[in-house]
Amino acid sequence: MKFYSTKRQSPEVTFEEAIMQGLPTDNGLFMPEKINTLPASFFENIAQFSFPEMAFEVAKCLLYNEDIEHVALQKMITNALNFEAPLVALNPQKNLYCLELFHGPSLAFKDFGARFMAQVMGYFAAKVQKNEQESEKNRNFCILVATSGDTGGAVAQGFLGVAGTKVTVLYPSKKISELQEKQLTTLGKNITAVEVDGTFDDCQQLVKTAFLDPDLQQKLWLSSANSINLARLIPQMFYYFEAYRQLVIAQKIKYPNPVVFCTPSGNFGNLCAGLLAKRMGLPVQKFIAAVNQNDVFTKYLQNGVFVAQASVPTVANAMDVGNPSNLQRINELYDNDIQKIKTDICSYTFNNKEIIEKIKEIFITHNYLMCPHTAVAYLGAETYLNAQSLPNKAQTPIVFLSTAHPAKFLDVIEPALNIKIPLPPALQSLVNKTKVATFIPNNYTALKTFLLQNN
Ligand SMILES: *Cc1c(COP(=O)(O)O)cnc(C)c1O
Repeated sequence: MKFYSTKRQSPEVTFEEAIMQGLPTDNGLFMPEKINTLPASFFENIAQFSFPEMAFEVAKCLLYNEDIEHVALQKMITNALNFEAPLVALNPQKNLYCLELFHGPSLAFKDFGARFMAQVMGYFAAKVQKNEQESEKNRNFCILVATSGDTGGAVAQGFLGVAGTKVTVLYPSKKISELQEKQLTTLGKNITAVEVDGTFDDCQQLVKTAFLDPDLQQKLWLSSANSINLARLIPQMFYYFEAYRQLVIAQKIKYPNPVVFCTPSGNFGNLCAGLLAKRMGLPVQKFIAAVNQNDVFTKYLQNGVFVAQASVPTVANAMDVGNPSNLQRINELYDNDIQKIKTDICSYTFNNKEIIEKIKEIFITHNYLMCPHTAVAYLGAETYLNAQSLPNKAQTPIVFLSTAHPAKFLDVIEPALNIKIPLPPALQSLVNKTKVATFIPNNYTALKTFLLQNN
């Protein structure tokens, strides 16, 4: 299959090129030229599959054997999806469910994308490396990533131990939490942490400079683990199907009514994956894009015109995005027609106060603790339930996505609720580990020297 750019100013590419290149040269985003739909037999048998088995059925329907060998693809999916995504019935009377996506190694849903991408990149890198051996080149595939805290952890964990790959993570010194720092600096093996005497923007600038340095590009095989890489989008479809699979099992009926999904959104990769899942045949009645005060998407649906804004900081900080990249893909999926977008998606905005109040309320009434991003999703689901007179309301399952473990946001939750949250084992085990990082000044020559010595 071919993959094209949403801007159509750069050539079509193969799946391998789309993944290894990451972004088209024309500033667009890669899209598959065809989105196949799953056969009826898939939905008839869905309850019999395990999560990874079902994900493989979805993946091999979208990607052909010539794009990526299916035998290898199945193994990659099994390796990537080695944790669960449980569907928790928060209010069974209202048919309201929480899809917990934070049971991976970095305790956030970004693990799905990062782990699958690491597997796929490792696979394509090994192919190139095999050919290069014959010509006596011997290069590692070097991923360079700057992080403000979260993404770097998921990417580093995803690539940990993937043969033929090396990851260098740049993070701003003293500007991420101690546990976030430990998540990046205690992995060892093929993961190296570089502590930069500067801000996150400085880190990003250093990475950009490295990618523009022809000398470095010639000596190293450099790549980015960009959040808009297709290899991060595809695996995010899997858990929308997983919610449906668990509904079929829990409700003991063959076909539940089409589901309403509420996705807490920032850069809109997560929501976009849901839209792709629907295109492949997943029965979805509506998507709710729940956002914090960075409300450019809500306004876009209201006014029909998109206006980017500078991002404002909120308590749900992983969603503080004022110009979401994946909007290009959403517009593409709906032929740039706002009316078509609105038939599938609605959007609500919530402020910090509403978010914190909701975390409190749910903790008190349901004894369930959620992170600020998940609270935005809950608010979206609740607002929708109250606003709409759904046909068959009682029979329509509403699933809101929980994107991170609450313990990752102690600074927001503990003072608001006046409680102590115990650390989950994945974080607890980091406390006594020793940080290993190379400290560099905010200076490109320092980074270049480091990269040439360590790759
Ligand atoms: C990244 C992130 C989001 C936003 O996801 P997008 O795909 O960027 O819309 C929401 N919640 C958490 C915890 C995140 O890390």
